[in-house]
Amino acid sequence: MRITCKKTQQFQGEGNSKMRGRLERQHLENTENFRGFAKKYVKEEAAQWEMDQAIPFSVITAMAREGFFALTLPKEMGGEGADYVSYGMLNEALGRYSVSLTGVLNVHTMVCETLVKWGTAEQKERWLPPLMQGEHIGAFALTEPQAGIDLSGLLTTVTKKDGRYFLNGRKKWITYGAAADLFLVFGFLDKKPVCCLVPKHTEGLSVTPIRDMLGFRASALGELSFENCELTADQIIGQPGFAFTFISPFALDFGRISVAFAALGLLRGCLEECVSYSRSRQTGEVLLADRPGTRRLLTEMKIDYEAARHLCLDGAFYKSQNDPLSVEKIFMAKYFASKAAAKHSEKAVQLHGALGCHEQTPTVRFYRDSKTMEIIEGSSEVIESLIGKSLIDKRGQVH
Ligand SMILES: Cc1cc2nc3c(=O)[nH]c(=O)nc-3n(C[C@H](O)[C@H](O)[C@H](O)COP(=O)(O)OP(=O)(O)OC[C@H]3O[C@@H](n4cnc5c(N)ncnc54)[C@H](O)[C@@H]3O)c2cc1C
Repeated sequence: MRITCKKTQQFQGEGNSKMRGRLERQHLENTENFRGFAKKYVKEEAAQWEMDQAIPFSVITAMAREGFFALTLPKEMGGEGADYVSYGMLNEALGRYSVSLTGVLNVHTMVCETLVKWGTAEQKERWLPPLMQGEHIGAFALTEPQAGIDLSGLLTTVTKKDGRYFLNGRKKWITYGAAADLFLVFGFLDKKPVCCLVPKHTEGLSVTPIRDMLGFRASALGELSFENCELTADQIIGQPGFAFTFISPFALDFGRISVAFAALGLLRGCLEECVSYSRSRQTGEVLLADRPGTRRLLTEMKIDYEAARHLCLDGAFYKSQNDPLSVEKIFMAKYFASKAAAKHSEKAVQLHGALGCHEQTPTVRFYRDSKTMEIIEGSSEVIESLIGKSLIDKRGQVH
């Protein structure tokens, strides 16, 4: 597969605003490739992955071969150098069939991007090559059993003793936690927020798989326990004190792009499944497609899909230009797309009747996964609080 990679120059300068929301030829080519991959490796298998609650490693290897684990990383470091629109469209293509798979891509990308931005030259040289080649898969470990959104409630600590560092604490709900090779772990060092990289074979680290989630069932969630895990200074990423103001928000911004576009893919899935089923299902004398209620449902779905697509692409274009407004735009895209996905997946189940309630019908997966998307990477309530406050602070001024 060829990934056409050109950074962001083509979006700069005059005519820029017209470009937003529209895909360039290179993005269309990439999208076609990503969708080809999703049809080949994901479409027929996704239902089984959810039932097995695991993604086969052969798929992870196939993604690595295509360069997906290094898609947005700079070419000079061995990455593909693609922009965030392409990254978004990769998540959209995979999310059409399996948001569990986008979960793995997401946390891995968050770890890689954090290293590129905040790692020292030595840290990049040591950790990035196996991550980019997919030999090691990274996971992002922030949440704890007693604290998710409220980071001040985290109890994980890194203590320094005689020039050595020791990590203690627990992390919960970690995507790919049960299978990842390397964890980006957040805690406090002398009361300063800090983050560090911890390989899975570190002495004192134990991993317990978490099964039976509502959604993202194949994402191999795990709980991590660190007991006096000894770290070296070069495992600390960035300055102690920076972890919650710079590093985790930076990483979570990528996380939100992934979830927003994956929700968009899921919405496309709802539409395609509903159109296809309504054209084939006879209800009494009337084809389901000919019922006014079906047409209204499809119309509302399509309009929300288009609106979500615009918001997602807008956020990704801004992000590709390093525009600070991208943060708010990505928040809005994630908010709208995840809510629309939850709303329409529920309708998609309804339209399919009993069939829509069976595990082999994709609508079941869409329904469960989309609810979860309203919680992760910034819950809807938190986004409302942030965007609402920002509007009030700006006295309602909008761009
Ligand atoms: C499938 C899945 C995958 C996940 N993967 C990861 C991962 O890879 N790494 C990781 O670190 N974590 C992961 N998580 C955890 C996830 O990030 C948290 O669930 C999320 O941050 C919410 O935290 P919480 O569950 O502790 O809820 P709480 O923080 O306890 O919130 C509970 C409720 O209160 C609301 N609330 C809380 N604070 C506020 C506020 N300030 N303003 C308004 N409302 C508020 C929330 O919106 C929510 O409705 C994952 C979770 C799931 C379900």
